[in-house]
Amino acid sequence: MKLLKLIEHLESLYPLNLSEDWDFPGLCVGDVQSEISTILLSVDITDAVVDEAIACGANLLITHHPLFFRSVHLVGGDTFRGRILNKLIKNNISHYVMHTNADNQIGGVRDTIQEIADSVQKGTLLSDYLIKFKTKLDKLVPKTAPLMKVCANDMSMKIYRPYAIGGSGDSFFLEAAQAFNGEGADLFITSDLRHHPVQDAIQQFNFAIVDIPHFVSEYPWLHKLKYQLHALNQTLDVKLLPFSTDPWNDLKTCQVF
Ligand SMILES: [Zn+2]
Repeated sequence: MKLLKLIEHLESLYPLNLSEDWDFPGLCVGDVQSEISTILLSVDITDAVVDEAIACGANLLITHHPLFFRSVHLVGGDTFRGRILNKLIKNNISHYVMHTNADNQIGGVRDTIQEIADSVQKGTLLSDYLIKFKTKLDKLVPKTAPLMKVCANDMSMKIYRPYAIGGSGDSFFLEAAQAFNGEGADLFITSDLRHHPVQDAIQQFNFAIVDIPHFVSEYPWLHKLKYQLHALNQTLDVKLLPFSTDPWNDLKTCQVF
């Protein structure tokens, strides 16, 4: 089907105006009149991801994270982003970004990790909860060397109200404390947590804090997107990136000592 039609459909599901004001999702590169038959879905866009798109014959790459976060004036092949862009163009691969519009949409990236957190039985002991949560994630995400850290004042607590934010969620501590109609979460799950926010939160709030890899928190939504693309057109060949792009958890690029 034509890229233009596909984009119209995607933007009816995930309107661009749901994105944050600093974010510019949408078509990054590609001819809207081109025919799309094979699509690769990925959290990130890296050299390895574009190589995979070429290898699997994709003519459209859809990623959650954008290639460019800031204004750009030069896209020459002498920078790594320029190299990626040029490689896409040379291989006739369009690139479409679904970032904070997909985070903020109902049933989107943020809701998907929350749904997984909610699917663990209520009243489960924290450690058992985390094992079950991790088992569910492992079934949905390519093999990584996962690190799941937990910080809690009471490791023997039971979990009834998990609150999950995909991606870097350390600005959501207060929301977690006020969630569930003011009752507050008893478990806060997010990624990229830093020393000070965690140190402050663990002294102020009654929830346990879990840090999971950023990639792991967002990849599960790609399964939903694949389903949505198939619902649009069953002849589309939609593939999920078969490997991890988490730099800290990639078995090829990272070791833990
Ligand atoms: Zn993210």
